[in-house]
Amino acid sequence: MGGGALLTVYDRARAVLPGGVNSPVRAMRQIGREPIFIDRGEGAELVDVEGNRYIDWVCSWGPLILGHADPAVISAVIEAAKRGTSYGAATAIEVQLAEQVVARFPAVEMVRMTSSGTEAAMSAVRLARALTDREVVVKFAGAYHGHSDGLLAEGGSGMATLSVPGSPGVPPAMAALTVVVPWNDRAAVHTALAEHQVAALLVEPVAANMGVVPPDEGFLEFLREATRAAGTQLIFDEVITGFRVARGGAQELFGVEPDLTVMGKIIGGGLPAAAFAGPRESMERIAPAGDVYQAGTLSGNPLAAAAGLATLDGLDAGAYERLGALTDRLADGFEALAADRPLQVAKAPGLVTLFFSEVPVRNFADATACDTDAHAHFCRAMLDRGVYPPPAQFEAWFVSLAHSEASVDRTLEAAGEALDEVLG
Ligand SMILES: *Cc1c(COP(=O)(O)O)cnc(C)c1O
Repeated sequence: MGGGALLTVYDRARAVLPGGVNSPVRAMRQIGREPIFIDRGEGAELVDVEGNRYIDWVCSWGPLILGHADPAVISAVIEAAKRGTSYGAATAIEVQLAEQVVARFPAVEMVRMTSSGTEAAMSAVRLARALTDREVVVKFAGAYHGHSDGLLAEGGSGMATLSVPGSPGVPPAMAALTVVVPWNDRAAVHTALAEHQVAALLVEPVAANMGVVPPDEGFLEFLREATRAAGTQLIFDEVITGFRVARGGAQELFGVEPDLTVMGKIIGGGLPAAAFAGPRESMERIAPAGDVYQAGTLSGNPLAAAAGLATLDGLDAGAYERLGALTDRLADGFEALAADRPLQVAKAPGLVTLFFSEVPVRNFADATACDTDAHAHFCRAMLDRGVYPPPAQFEAWFVSLAHSEASVDRTLEAAGEALDEVLG
């Protein structure tokens, strides 16, 4: 390479990685700026390669509920690494992690681990199709279940429609097996279940990938009854809500038990791990106990299992009280700022979204009607003030146990200034 100006990391990144990143939202295009390259994380803070420090409200999009470089997690990973990083053979530590999951989740007796939430959701759908001998899957517009072909579709709002592919490269024939309905819309769910032989209804029990949009009162109970009546497997995608909104996820918080559960993020404590799980009778259809094929070279990886176990160890009853109190402090502060501004605040334990909207957000259509330009400006103004918000309107702020009252208060102070700059 010739002399002249020094190349930035981003210059180098763009030469070898599409868009300069390995996952789209990191590029920060939605907020109109270049990506920030991280050097390290410390507790609730990120430090970028230029030495700028930020209070981090992304926390790796959820896994880091104990914060960055938690000492117990780091030492568990180091100890595990000394014994080797992967064997491609069975270990005791993955059994221990599965036992912890079973102990926490009301609807889980057996677990199959994977390396990503995408794989876990894809495999849960395969199992549901095998269990029901049906093909169609129903999902909600604006819900995210990973990037597998059949689950990318977001479809339109309104009535249940056969969806179009969510991306070039997804064969229409695959997308045609996915029916997309609006979140919190009982009539649309009824119609979809009546008009199709539905293998599975996938749901984020608290939608958190269109921003946080909790279920309407009774909606999850309705889904439970409607799917049971239709002979459809109800799959809770608890990749975000699991171990976060309560010890046993949304199924514990709302007291509604799905047929199958998908987990990820926190279960790997910041290393790649995820899982799908359910009652013994269903899970024993999975190979080699049963005939539904599913596998993975790094599934149940000992480093990821060690990080996951150490993370779950840190999540005692006091942890959830504290997480709830920090969430309320952040959300209440946002509410105060929203009082005389076109903003809406949504929350669930450990999750908050500030919507740039005049009206409350109940579904994806409401979310996409938000003022994303104002939101983008707000995010840039927050970054200028040393606060790192999720760099997209359709995401949650992730509260961790490494955050303190002081980090919440500093964030709210920055938010007040940023909102004055953006909205006047
Ligand atoms: C992140 C996420 C996934 C996908 O998990 P990956 O590990 O990124 O593949 C699936 N479902 C939900 C609800 C998620 O938030």
